Amino acid sequence: MKFFYTLLFALISITLTAQDTYLHCGKLIDTKSGKMLTERTIVVSGNKISKVEIGYTEGESGDIIIDLKDKTVMPGLIDMHVHMESESNPKAYLERYTNNEADVAYNSVGFAKTTLMAGFTTVRDLGGSGVNIALKKAIAQGKIDGPRIFTAGKSLATTGGHADPTNGGNKALIGDPGPKDGVVNSVEDAKKAVRQRYKNGADLIKITATGGVLSVAKSSSNPQFTVEEIKAICKTAKDYGFHVAAHAHGDEGMQRAIIGGVTTIEHGTLMSTKTMDLMKKNKAYLVPTITAGKEVTEKATIAGYYPDVIVPKALEIGPQIQDTFKKAYKRGVRIAFGTDAGVFKHGQNAKEFGYMVEAGMPAITAIQCATIVNAKVLNMSKELGQIAPDFIADIVAVNDDPSKEIKTMENVVFVMKEGKIYKQ
Ligand SMILES: [Zn+2]
Repeated sequence: MKFFYTLLFALISITLTAQDTYLHCGKLIDTKSGKMLTERTIVVSGNKISKVEIGYTEGESGDIIIDLKDKTVMPGLIDMHVHMESESNPKAYLERYTNNEADVAYNSVGFAKTTLMAGFTTVRDLGGSGVNIALKKAIAQGKIDGPRIFTAGKSLATTGGHADPTNGGNKALIGDPGPKDGVVNSVEDAKKAVRQRYKNGADLIKITATGGVLSVAKSSSNPQFTVEEIKAICKTAKDYGFHVAAHAHGDEGMQRAIIGGVTTIEHGTLMSTKTMDLMKKNKAYLVPTITAGKEVTEKATIAGYYPDVIVPKALEIGPQIQDTFKKAYKRGVRIAFGTDAGVFKHGQNAKEFGYMVEAGMPAITAIQCATIVNAKVLNMSKELGQIAPDFIADIVAVNDDPSKEIKTMENVVFVMKEGKIYKQ
């Protein structure tokens, strides 16, 4: 009998001593200091990082060792601007009328997996139909593979504005959407629309402060909300712990958004120096989305790819985004990393690093934007964006040193999310 109990205790203690994973990293980017460390071991216990040790260490027998000695290792990447429900294609404008929610959902499953495999372990989804909320839940519950999602649900627009879901439809289809559907035309609507997003399960609010390139409407840059409406949105959002992201190409709408209290300006294309200084003063972030600018410019030259009304807007706005980023960065505007993936192919998010470096930002700074800075914007500074004890074990690796070869970011060879390996 005594033998039996000894055996039982031994079995229980083996089960309780969970297996740890030891990652041997040749190079490791410390996103806090911006330094490249060499020969480090990351110890992962469960879904968290428990230790980072100097040299290559090993645990007890039974622990797993992963050899990344010839790789550069960094925290899982974060993209602050994606659309997980859709992906650009020449039929996209027709699909708004032919696809049902279930079609959108099945498509988004593939986009989510592609994004994770590209090394993006967290994304901020800036607008879809609401399927993005279900997608977030399914990933969080482990039903499907994808990045951790913080989602705006459906973006807030004004009537006829960028993200009015009925733009371009015929009379029988357009109706008169209101705050429930994300269309706001007064301070009262603004409050209701934010509360509805909370009820729907969103994590943050997205507004379209100016016209946009890809909406079936004339202007890419006119202001589309009043300051009072934006203030009401930001104030209400605060009650729910939400931050507000504002799509903006035109300068006037951008200024109104910043004065109204938004946290991030998306694209920021026609930003004046006055607005850059206002952003600095209000500690707002620019999310550049240079990749989207390049991609829409290219697609606009393909006959029939976009509806006619979109082509001149794409050709006007698209080519200017990288230059605005360059000027804003030089002037000291805070930069968060974001691409607008969905406007181009999911999984190509890391192209943005190359464009940022091309415009004068050092590679490690660009990687900091995509990790520690974005974690801060998401209010996840203690959990995401760093490889340090107690952080969530989101870890990726590339073949080369990105400070010497930034293109290597487009070929992520190792992906761990919450301690689970998805790519090796
Ligand atoms: Zn977008």
